[in-house]
Amino acid sequence: MGSFAAATLLSSSPSSSPSPHFFSSSFILFHRPLARWLASCFSSSSPVRSYLSSCFVGRGRGHFCVLPGRAFNHLHSAPEEPVVPADASIVSDLLAFLNESWTPFHATAEAKQLLLAAGFQLLREEDEWKLIPGGRYFFTRNMSTIVAFAVGQKYQPGNGFHVIAAHTDSPCPKLKPVSAISKSGFLNVGVQTYGGGLWHTWFDRDLSIAGRVLLKLTDGSLSHRLVKVMRPIMRIPTLAIHLDRSVNTDGFKPNLESHLVPILATQLKSGIATNDVPTKFHHPPLLQLLAEELQCTVEEIADLELNVCDTQPSCLGGAHEEFIFSGRLDNLASSYCALRALLDTSKDPGDLVDETSVRMVALFDNEEVGSDSAQGAGSPTMFQAISRISKVFSGTSLHEGLVERSIRRSFLVSADMAHALHPNYSDRHEDHHQPKLHEGIVIKHNANQRYATTAATAFLFKEVAKARAIPTQNFVVRNDMGCGSTIGPILASGIGIRTVDCGIPQLSMHSVREICGTGDIDISYNHFKAFYELFHSIDCQLVIDG
Ligand SMILES: [Zn+2]
Repeated sequence: MGSFAAATLLSSSPSSSPSPHFFSSSFILFHRPLARWLASCFSSSSPVRSYLSSCFVGRGRGHFCVLPGRAFNHLHSAPEEPVVPADASIVSDLLAFLNESWTPFHATAEAKQLLLAAGFQLLREEDEWKLIPGGRYFFTRNMSTIVAFAVGQKYQPGNGFHVIAAHTDSPCPKLKPVSAISKSGFLNVGVQTYGGGLWHTWFDRDLSIAGRVLLKLTDGSLSHRLVKVMRPIMRIPTLAIHLDRSVNTDGFKPNLESHLVPILATQLKSGIATNDVPTKFHHPPLLQLLAEELQCTVEEIADLELNVCDTQPSCLGGAHEEFIFSGRLDNLASSYCALRALLDTSKDPGDLVDETSVRMVALFDNEEVGSDSAQGAGSPTMFQAISRISKVFSGTSLHEGLVERSIRRSFLVSADMAHALHPNYSDRHEDHHQPKLHEGIVIKHNANQRYATTAATAFLFKEVAKARAIPTQNFVVRNDMGCGSTIGPILASGIGIRTVDCGIPQLSMHSVREICGTGDIDISYNHFKAFYELFHSIDCQLVIDG
């Protein structure tokens, strides 16, 4: 493991070759950036990463940090005591999740790995489900939507579901079915825009591709594989100022068909004559890169679904390392906080002993394009999951109104990112609803039901926060501006579930590179945990109907 050698070079110990004894008996002096890099070498569930992360996340200053060697004990034996404090920041884990999750497929795969590592059992929607009280399960659909749930030990059919929902997709260019374009001596890659991206931000970025590939192997078998080319292989160049003198006064207005076309290579280096017409759907160098990643032949690649991705890793930023600079914060930040809240409130045997409900996370694909797909929030995915779980526990005799009663007792937290007040455009926010970074989850209101929040759902969600002294904020859009929407109204109207729309405040939403505050990540995570742990006891005190 190369990371050990790097750590040893900066160690305060004279030892030149690390051993188990070395790590368990000494303190290690880490250069802060090295600690960050080394942390990224370990899995997101690794105590070593959590320990390393604790030295660069938070308020610590200086170029070096000291870590006790016992942080590495588990590499050689099981740790004698937990090395991760219960309330450790999850920011570094979120960064790792973001860096893995270039596409909804990868976000789902990463979530799947975290759930499996925590002992959740994988279900298939095609199979008959056998569930038990206290059991923890999940399923994926299209490998881009994932639903995980933990059944309370005291759950009875007809009881409620406490759900946090978010989305796995983000705006990006996607490869066209026929992407090979040859023009002006270049091999270009034809793309279609997905969602409402700030497309100008994709120019002059170091880009690559990721997604899924269908293989038809030489032995005749079929295979579905995820792929990610880590190095920058493409670029969408801007036009030089000398050839576009008015761009700073008239604005940058690229034509999305003709100007938003990445270049992959030159025809010269690819050995292709200028007048050659592409013979394959995709350029041979692109297929070759995929084949190398997948360790297959170009001929075995039968079909593909690829996103254009920014290769710059997600990172901390700002003078106090208080910002996260990253793509896809909308909405992987919410997705990760929700997932971790479920994992961390159902990991110990005692966590579900007194639980009477089902704790659920639902992360959907296709929110950015309206959610109308077989795996989007507009599909019956969540309703079917609630219905199936209710029926499994009711046994052979179906009770009257079983699913309907369950839904009326259920509650949905629709978590999607929110617009923080932008210092350079502060007039775009209504005067009394100006969410700030580090000041808590933003509860979104809209009288015209672009958000599904009601006074009652907002109140209950805020009561959960108050019980743990967690701050919240409010947002309503100005009357002279249009309002966005999200999965909350779709799920609320489709299922009839009480819903609060809320989100982590951020800037630059739908840019290739967005910004949010580290404080709000921890606040959201703790608010979501409180929701799972406290909601029922608060909800049962408030009667609205009947
Ligand atoms: Zn979103």
